[in-house]
Amino acid sequence: MSIDTTPSTTPQAGRDAIVRIVGLTKSFGSLQVLKSVNLEVRRGQVVCILGRSGSGKSTMLRCINHLEKPSSGAVIVNGEVVGYKLRHDKLHELKPNEIARQRAQTGMVFQAFNMFPHLTVLENLMEAPVRVLGRRPEEVRSEAMELLKSVGLADRADQYPSTLSGGQQQRVAIARALVMKPSVMLFDEPTSALDPELVGEVLEVMKALARSGMTMIVVTHEIGFARSVADEVVFMADGQVAEQGPPSQVIDNPQAEATRIFLRSLSERRDAPVQ
Ligand code: ADP
Ligand code: MG
Repeated sequence: MSIDTTPSTTPQAGRDAIVRIVGLTKSFGSLQVLKSVNLEVRRGQVVCILGRSGSGKSTMLRCINHLEKPSSGAVIVNGEVVGYKLRHDKLHELKPNEIARQRAQTGMVFQAFNMFPHLTVLENLMEAPVRVLGRRPEEVRSEAMELLKSVGLADRADQYPSTLSGGQQQRVAIARALVMKPSVMLFDEPTSALDPELVGEVLEVMKALARSGMTMIVVTHEIGFARSVADEVVFMADGQVAEQGPPSQVIDNPQAEATRIFLRSLSERRDAPVQ
């Protein structure tokens, strides 16, 4: 695999970048899902990714934490090429334990909550810091409790995930990602699986996180959230960034035809009578 990870020539490029996606291409067999995507996310930025189903949003997030390997191009998190190290001018894939350590820099929250059902809420939070980072349980426990408090669930620490609502489980999933002290949080449609009345509590936690200065990349169909929280909105179509800019531009004054069609379809869906 050959990649060029040299900074681009614009003076601002690379400065404060937590995530840099450089010429990222990903194919599954003959299907090219990502077509040379470039994207830079700076420290403290909230970037919302919009786009139709199948446009490559999840694949892009999965490349950021090396759940998928790029076919070409690279992802750089905190200055490190994700999944590889450079030795004698060649990229070598990292070993599983090195990948796990690197993956700890990117907290991921999925549509499905992915709790360990046999562990309590607190044990779910403590598992990765203890097992992956080798940290001392007593030290992790107090940090985990603080985080549970911050998502409003300290009183649920000793319960099992199945006793919680979907909204509560997703708030636990956010706390569980944060306990690894990631430098960027990735959200893949975190509210899509929730009953409508539970969406708000999860978005509130995400808003608070954004206000705290966390760098976030959020794939979402929640246009209201994107408009009020995103510094930048990226619209993906057919494996490419079709349009990118502040919400006032991409959401309220979209230039690309694909963005207009997508936003119209969302508002039609919202306006449709409930079946
Ligand atoms: P989005 O998240 O925007 O809906 P995805 O990144 O999940 O899009 O998928 C983009 C395309 O890649 C889709 O056509 C999907 O079927 C395909 N795809 C995703 N993952 C795989 C895989 N592991 N194997 C084969 N095709 C895949
Ligand atoms: Mg997806």
